[in-house]
Formats: sequence, C-alpha cells, structure tokens
Amino acid sequence: MDTTAIVLAAGRGKRMQSGTPKQFMLLRGKPLLYYSLRVFEDSPLVDHVILVTEEENIAFCRSEIVERYGFHKVERITAGGKERYDSVYQGLIACEGTDYVLIHDSARPFIDGLMLERGLSAAVKYKACVLAMPSKDTVKIAGEDGFVKETPDRSRVWIIQTPQIFSYDLVRNAYDQLRAVGMEGVTDDAMVVEKAAGRKVYLVEGDYKNIKITTPEDLETAEYRLAKNEREI
Ligand code: C5P
Repeated sequence: MDTTAIVLAAGRGKRMQSGTPKQFMLLRGKPLLYYSLRVFEDSPLVDHVILVTEEENIAFCRSEIVERYGFHKVERITAGGKERYDSVYQGLIACEGTDYVLIHDSARPFIDGLMLERGLSAAVKYKACVLAMPSKDTVKIAGEDGFVKETPDRSRVWIIQTPQIFSYDLVRNAYDQLRAVGMEGVTDDAMVVEKAAGRKVYLVEGDYKNIKITTPEDLETAEYRLAKNEREI
C-alpha cells in the first residue's frame, strides 16, 4: 500500500494579520510548516510527501525547509491555487498512482503518529475519513439577519481537523466531478467526497491538541505547548 501526504502551505493566512504567510512564521525558531513535515517524515506509515505552496515560495521551501531539515520524503514542491481546494487539486495531480492520500493543513503542527495510525486504518476500512473531535461548545446556526436560526444537538456536532484521508481514486474522482460543476463554498475535502461521490465519510478520533493556527492567540498557545514538550523530552 502506497501512501502520500499532501501538505498544504499555499494560503495567505489573512486572519493572522502578519506580513509573513503563517506557514513560515517561526515557532520556537522553526517555521510552522516544519512541525507537520517532521511528523510525516518520521512516520513509517507515510511513503511520500507533496508540498503545495505559492509559486514564489517554492525556492524558499526547497532550500530553507526541505533541504535544511533533510525532509527526504518531500518528492515534489508544487504551486498551489487561489482557494484551498485548488491547492489540493494540484497536490492530487502531483501524486497520481498512489493508493491513499492524507490531505493536511500545514497550519496544524500538532499531529502525531497515533493520529496517523488511527486515520489510515479507518481509511483502509471506509475509504474516506476525517480526524475530528466532539464539539466542546454549543454551536448555533445564524440566520442572515444575525439572529440565531437553529441549535444543532451538541452530541452530534464534531469539529473537523486534518489530515483527511482517502483512497486516491475516490477523492480524485470526487474532485474531478465537482470541479466540472463548481466548487464554491467548499471548505474541506470531506465535503467534496460527500457532495460528488455520495460516499459516507467516517469520523475518526483526532485530538483536542490538534489545533489550527489561525489567529495570533493560537500562536501563543502553540509556543506554550512546544515549550512544554521540550521540557518533557
Ligand atoms: O486559511 P485556512 O487556515 O483555512 O487554510 C487551511 C490550509 O490550507 C492552510 O494550511 C493553508 O496554507 C492552505 N491553503 C492553501 N491554498 C490556498 C488556501 C489555503 O494551500 N489557496
């Protein structure tokens, strides 16, 4: 079984309000992107890595991240697109022939080997799965008028993380089908599979520590966690 991680690092990270794209911001002296690449590099479950970044950052990623830290599994660094789903598609084109893909946001540095193990075994069984955790908060759906429209039953609300793991053919066909009719509003890969192929996507237990770094407060939380990990090693 051949597996490929597609690591997405082509976003602008506007909510971070920083001149540097967030995937390159330094956390304990290393770029955010470093941390998830390290986990894929060290996992025996992952054979290849495709890194997707903006065209103008490809050379920087090659010399300052891939070569500098010796990420030998990164076989290609490919240019992303305008939206996340465009970047994913470029990643999928770059790994044709693989059996399973783990699509991962580089903005989530705290994945670990156990999460990959749970995710891949579910993907082999169900062909499509996402890491997720039950919502700790009550979630409200807002109406266009800004008032609460409905409140979903909290016991059924899950917060979705990455990696999202699929059989290659399944997710590629789903992307091809949906791209033909329009991808507006698509915010994750599971949505593409749900909409296009009509296949059920399994929810695998992720981890509450698998946060996405989006705003400056998240960076502070990440710094704290990394410092704690270093002390414990
Ligand atoms: O903006 P957000 O945090 O939701 O982006 C999720 C991930 O998708 C990030 O790792 C970001 O770099 C990536 N992305 C991308 N190409 C885009 C937009 C986002 O690779 N056009």
